[in-house]
Formats: sequence, structure tokens, C-alpha cells
Amino acid sequence: MNHRKRLLRLQSWLKESRLDGLLVTHLPNIRYLTGFTGSSAALLVSTTGSFFFTDGRYKAQANVEVTGAKILVAQTSPLSALADWLKGSVDRSPARKSKSTGLPLIGIELEVISAGARDRLALLLKGRARLKATNALVETARMIKDAEEIVRIRRAAKLGDSLFAVALEKIRPGIPEVEVAAEMEHRARRGGAEGMAFPTILASGPRSALIHGRASQARIPYRGFVVCDFGVILAGYCSDRTRTLHVGKPNVEAKDLYFSVLESQQAAIEAVRPGITAAEVDVAARRVLQKRKLDRYFTHSTGHGLGLEIHEAPRLAAGQKQKLEPGMVITIEPGAYLPGKWGVRIEDMVLVTSSGCEVLSPDSKELVVI
Ligand code: ZN
Ligand code: ZN
Repeated sequence: MNHRKRLLRLQSWLKESRLDGLLVTHLPNIRYLTGFTGSSAALLVSTTGSFFFTDGRYKAQANVEVTGAKILVAQTSPLSALADWLKGSVDRSPARKSKSTGLPLIGIELEVISAGARDRLALLLKGRARLKATNALVETARMIKDAEEIVRIRRAAKLGDSLFAVALEKIRPGIPEVEVAAEMEHRARRGGAEGMAFPTILASGPRSALIHGRASQARIPYRGFVVCDFGVILAGYCSDRTRTLHVGKPNVEAKDLYFSVLESQQAAIEAVRPGITAAEVDVAARRVLQKRKLDRYFTHSTGHGLGLEIHEAPRLAAGQKQKLEPGMVITIEPGAYLPGKWGVRIEDMVLVTSSGCEVLSPDSKELVVI
């Protein structure tokens, strides 16, 4: 990963935004910019250089992983150490001594910094720097994946998506959902996954109407839908896929529901191309369900970006004006859920290309009946 290039690009954005620096506290953003995978860090990217703070536990790891930033090991929390260092650096700066310029303007990631940390920071830097809320600068860069990230995402998708075959081997009436999930997760780890991208969803029978029905002790019924939503983290990158299958012979109504959701998903995938807004893709999915009077059962957004995190920008939902661009990786996952009865969701990851999109690790989406 070319972290130096990412830092340089951010530095040029800082100049455009008239900021003297950006204080990065969101760990996935720090990982994106420096390569650090630990859980305690703060990063200051200034127009002149980048300064990475961690605590003593991560000194050796930082020396191996961090590129493009100067590493400083904190005795206190990385954020307090960074604030102290910033205070000192402002005091030492000749511009400050001559009072020829205003106070440096430092951007903070308002969406992720806690109110307490922001207040402490403001107090520490009082009279030396001003804090300014920034609007997802690093998240915006992260939306467009570079070639190396796309390679990793493809690998994650391939491993993650292969777990559905494991589910198919394991799902039988009477088996607890957690047992199926356990087998899938075991295979993921053996395939090299660092972990699951989120708790595996295995929702059978009436539980399939729960959008986030994590695998429970409930037993697979003799007849009904099973929603399987699963993903891995491989080399830092997430995968995400949902397949819905039917145990026992599906009736006409069940088939109608399944194929309506599938048609909705296909319509949304066909809509994906550069220049279209995230909201327009959402409309494409919803329109199909509307025609079948199922839209009121589609109660979540159509999809989301993913990469280092399972949910990233852009969000494919009503009102989202973000235009899609080549290099974005998003999910397309419409569903319909009839409370207390059943639900269906079908989800794939797609890569936006210059001419449209590519479904990652495509497979058959005919209704599987066990
Ligand atoms: Zn998803
Ligand atoms: Zn999912």
C-alpha cells in the first residue's frame, strides 16, 4: 500500500481547505494513511509532515508497520501526547513568536472524536491553535479503492462468498442456527480470515423477518426461509454477501417474494454506473418492489460502501446525492420482511467500473431449496 502517496494527497487537500493540519483519530483512517493495525494511535497530518503517536505497547509494531509518518511513543494516551506536542510545536514556531499570523487551524474528525476528548483538546490548545470540524476528508478518499485494495477486496469476497457452500452443507431441519454459523466461521479462519466482518446472520423461519437476526439457538425449521448474511476480514478488507434459501418446498407466495427481491437486486445492479447518484440506485431497487406492493416491507437502505470497514461511504439510500465513481466498491442488498412471517434478502458486492459495474464473485441466485 502506498501510504506516502495517500498522505501527500491529504496534505494537498488540507491546503485547499485552508487547514494547517488534520488530527486523525479514527483507527481505520489511521490504518489507511499509515498502515498501522493496532488499537491505540493518533495521527497529525500537517502541511509540512505527518506525526504518528501510539503508546508503549505498540512501539515495536509501529516501527514495522507505519510508513510516511514520524513515530512518537506516548507516555500518556496518544491523543494527549499529540496535543502536548502540538502545543510545544506552536510555541517553538517563529511565526508564533513574531505574532505575524493567526492561530493554526487544525481539523478534527467530529463524527468520531468523543465530546470529552474534543473539550480536553480545545482546553489544552487554547490560545495556540483553533479546532475546526472537518467533513469526512479521509473517508472521502477511502471511497475510491486503488488497484492494491481492489485485489484484496476480491480475495476477501472470494473467501467470504465461499462460506455459503458451507452453510448449504450444514443447514438441515432441527440444527441450531449457531451451529451453522460456527462451521462457517471456522472455515473462514482456516481460509486465512482475521475474523468475521460482523456477527454472522443466520435467521430462519419467522426470524428471517429480522433484518439483523444474528445466529441464535433457534433450530432450522422444516419449512421456511433462511437468511444467511456473512462476511470475512482478509488482509484488512471486508466482504459481505447475503443469500436466502428455503427449507422444504416453497409455496407460490414464497417464490413470488424471493423472485421479487431478486428482480429488485438485478435492477439496482443494472443501474450502477459512474455518474449515477447513490439515491438513484436505491430508487431502482425500490421501484421493482413498489410494483409488487412490497416496498413497505423493504425497510433498510439498498447498500453501502465497504473496504477497511464493513460500512463505509457511500450509503445507497434516499436523498444520497453522492455520485458513483469507478473504483468504488458497494453492496446491493434489497430485502423484504413481513414481521412474524418471513423475510428475504439478496446481497452482492459490486465494483463500479468505467462502463458500469462488475459483480464480485458472481454465482447463481436461483432459489436454493433444501
Ligand atoms: Zn451489507
Ligand atoms: Zn450483509
